[in-house]
Amino acid sequence: MEHWDVVIVGGGPAGAACALAARRADPSARVLVLDRVDFPRDKVCGDGIAAEALDVLAGLGVDPSSVTDGYPAVPRLRLTSPRGTTVERATARPSYVIPRSVLDARLVAAAQESGAVLRHHHVRQVRPRAGHVELDRAITAGVLVGADGAESVVRRALRVQRNLPTQLAVALRGYAPEPPGQRGVQVIVTTEQRWPAYAWSFPLGDGRVNVGYGELVSGGATRAGLVEGLHRLLPGISPAGLKAHRLPLSTGRPRQPDGRVLLAGDAASLINPLTGEGIFYAVLSGALAGRAAGAGAGAGAAYRRELGSRLGRHLRHSSVASRLSRRPALMDAVFRAAGDDQRVFDAVVALGLADGRLTPRALAGAARRLR
Ligand SMILES: Cc1cc2nc3c(=O)[nH]c(=O)nc-3n(C[C@H](O)[C@H](O)[C@H](O)COP(=O)(O)OP(=O)(O)OC[C@H]3O[C@@H](n4cnc5c(N)ncnc54)[C@H](O)[C@@H]3O)c2cc1C
Repeated sequence: MEHWDVVIVGGGPAGAACALAARRADPSARVLVLDRVDFPRDKVCGDGIAAEALDVLAGLGVDPSSVTDGYPAVPRLRLTSPRGTTVERATARPSYVIPRSVLDARLVAAAQESGAVLRHHHVRQVRPRAGHVELDRAITAGVLVGADGAESVVRRALRVQRNLPTQLAVALRGYAPEPPGQRGVQVIVTTEQRWPAYAWSFPLGDGRVNVGYGELVSGGATRAGLVEGLHRLLPGISPAGLKAHRLPLSTGRPRQPDGRVLLAGDAASLINPLTGEGIFYAVLSGALAGRAAGAGAGAGAAYRRELGSRLGRHLRHSSVASRLSRRPALMDAVFRAAGDDQRVFDAVVALGLADGRLTPRALAGAARRLR
């Protein structure tokens, strides 16, 4: 048996942030990241990165410009409501659109530079024991972090329940030439048909857009239905390389158990139920898990407390907003209010992409527009 202080399963944004944080908290810690594939690797995603995700990385010592290098800022967002109201405004802070093959390779390289070791290994078996956690009868860990995504093996080993179909979305995405008039604008088009569902078109700045469409699994989503939804909402595009993946939404997030096994990112169902955004929550939860790892047997409880104090209120607000948003008329009113008032627009964006809340101004604006 080979022993490491912290073993992280998965080298995506959650795993890389976790490794960076664990090394930063204790520069003598032996940190091992295991991934079943070699980097660079693709990950099915819209590739949209909120500015707040870069803030978390900067706090871990990663220069944001080294992450975004070669991909221009995207300063505007165009939203279309389920009933067809469109609002386009500058966002309070620009987003970035970076292919995951590039982003994840950069983040995992930063983790390696910080002293973490990356190894190609497909984890199949996780066994919590007294005093350590055992993996595949080959490796032991003082603390194990499951950052292994939407189909987490670590989560299964903890016997933590999977998201229900009403708390699980599925989306497919591909790449297409950038349509005229979309330079610097992220586009999101929602639809009343099969609601809640939406399509996106995010410009990478290299002449391509990442386009996709997603909806809830509970609605009986099929690949043909997802392709049809994409073409209905974004007519005239011909994307290549369409691939689908599941999104465990934070409305189904589990309680982090006590002990030496932590869950971060998609493995912890930390995806925004309004937008499907997960990278910000992956790097933030990964960072908190990495910091808590030093607590050994107390790591689970310490991480749960930190996650609750940093994100608890936002998660409660986005869950409530997700329930309210089931009424398309209300969504329409919110989008109209965002068209009336930049501050409502900013609040909607912060709730959907980062750690924002349901603000009294946004609620009052929507109520006015409902009348
Ligand atoms: C279609 C789609 C569009 C999306 N668009 C956006 C968007 O525009 N912006 C946004 O912020 N979020 C978006 N998301 C969500 C985002 O992709 C995820 O939230 C994010 O990737 C979570 O990061 P993670 O590190 O938790 O998991 P992942 O990125 O999934 O990384 C998990 C890693 O674990 C590895 N792994 C898995 N199992 C094992 C194992 N048994 N052993 C070893 N390694 C293992 C995998 O190889 C992978 O490298 C989208 C999701 C989908 C499906």
